[in-house]
Amino acid sequence: MSLHLRKPSFVLISGLLLSLAFTAISLISYYVANQSLNQHITTNTLPLTSDTIYSEVQRDLLQPVLVSSLMAQDTFVHDWIEEGEQNPEQMQRYLKAIQQRYDAFTAFFVSEYTHKYYHSTGILKQVSDTLPADRWYFHSRKAPEEFNINLDLDTANTSITTLFVNHKVTDEQGKLLGIIGVGLASTTIKELIETYQSRYGRQVYFIDAQGKVTMQGSQFSGASDIHEVKGLQNIAPEILSSPEGSYTYTNDNQTYLIKTRFIPELSWYLIVQHTEQSEARITTTLWINLTISLAVIIIVLLLQHFTLGGYQRRLEYMANTDPLTGASSRHAFEMLFQQILNFAKRQKHPVSTILVDIDHFKTFNDNYGHLLGDTILTNVAKVLTQNLRQADTLCRWGGDEFFIVLPNCHQSNALLIAEKMRQEIEESLQVINDQQLHVTASFGVAEYSNDETTVSLFNRTDLALYRAKSKNRNQVEVATESAFKTV
Ligand code: GH3
Ligand code: MG
Repeated sequence: MSLHLRKPSFVLISGLLLSLAFTAISLISYYVANQSLNQHITTNTLPLTSDTIYSEVQRDLLQPVLVSSLMAQDTFVHDWIEEGEQNPEQMQRYLKAIQQRYDAFTAFFVSEYTHKYYHSTGILKQVSDTLPADRWYFHSRKAPEEFNINLDLDTANTSITTLFVNHKVTDEQGKLLGIIGVGLASTTIKELIETYQSRYGRQVYFIDAQGKVTMQGSQFSGASDIHEVKGLQNIAPEILSSPEGSYTYTNDNQTYLIKTRFIPELSWYLIVQHTEQSEARITTTLWINLTISLAVIIIVLLLQHFTLGGYQRRLEYMANTDPLTGASSRHAFEMLFQQILNFAKRQKHPVSTILVDIDHFKTFNDNYGHLLGDTILTNVAKVLTQNLRQADTLCRWGGDEFFIVLPNCHQSNALLIAEKMRQEIEESLQVINDQQLHVTASFGVAEYSNDETTVSLFNRTDLALYRAKSKNRNQVEVATESAFKTV
């Protein structure tokens, strides 16, 4: 019985251990894979992407700077200014040619003498330091740098934000002659950023030397200054004081890896950002691992269940059954006997008992050997079993003695059954293994009386058997009522 209790807990414990082990292994490999992937991104992929984007930025964004610088040194421009800006259409043609050749959005020149704003379409206006829209000019002419970059609305097309390169034009003595340059529509730049982003799968944006976001793609968080981004604000001073660097910051439980690089020509920082996340394939691997683990656990548990179940059934059978005759063992029967009697008592059902003992069994053993003795025992048990119902129990009580319990059976009926058994033994076991044996058996029959104990019932059955033996054997005797009162 104890095996019954132990098996489920054993299966449960091994199931738990397997689950724990598999889950731990799967999770550890998941975290290790994730960590090494993120490390790989920080140390290899991100810097590489940043370098590539940096060179592409140089190619794409620095071209206007170069063109503006060429324009500022162009002899035609210098001659034309020094000749007193005589033919505006010459400048207009020049600007148009530049605009077309370099595929710029706009090309312009503002003269320091006349404050005239020349454009590829003609003279647009005269800049004035009182107009906010013209402030860029007065700022650029005073600035110490040769050129600056300004994001502004185009004077010729006020609906489009343009990135202007404002380059100083100076004569040989260093005297300012004006500001010249080209502009790039910011939509074009945004498209460039989008291209970088989709090509490299990273977020790309630019900030100026103060940390203000100057150019960004559609995926940008929306903050206009890195000082406004949680997590990023802490490392902002460091970013803005180093020409390049790699950083990690956390915002809303999300870890970001960033690579920064200063672009001196633009005075901007290029920021390439990677959002740390489990790559889909690693997560898929985790799920595959967990599924395989679950399948293995189920298979192992099922195997365990069936193997242990089989062993258990065999052990139980061995413990409960007499191996020679297949009858119940005495040990198993004793537990059952009391239960049958209790049940009968509750249900007020009759229970009868029969005790059978082979006559002169010892002489068969002595004369024909122990093996033949065993065969007799097996055959007797077979005859007895054939006369029993499903609910009846046959037990090998010991040696050549069998005890039978017949629930829901009165003594009179048990007597008939015992008599039938006796006759069949006598008739069918005349010859065994070609030996004339004439096997017979004696029977004691009793009926359970409500107040008696199992011992008392057995003793009364035994006494009846004893009487059968003493009456020259091969007969059935019924127990007397009074007998149990004396036991
Ligand atoms: P009685 O008619 O008075 O019952 O005579 P008996 O010879 O049957 O008497 P007894 O009960 O003394 O003998 C039982 C014998 O059964 C003794 C024992 O050696 C033998 N025996 C007990 N178990 C086995 C067994 O498993 N196989 C065989 N072959 N013999 C057994
Ligand atoms: Mg005997």
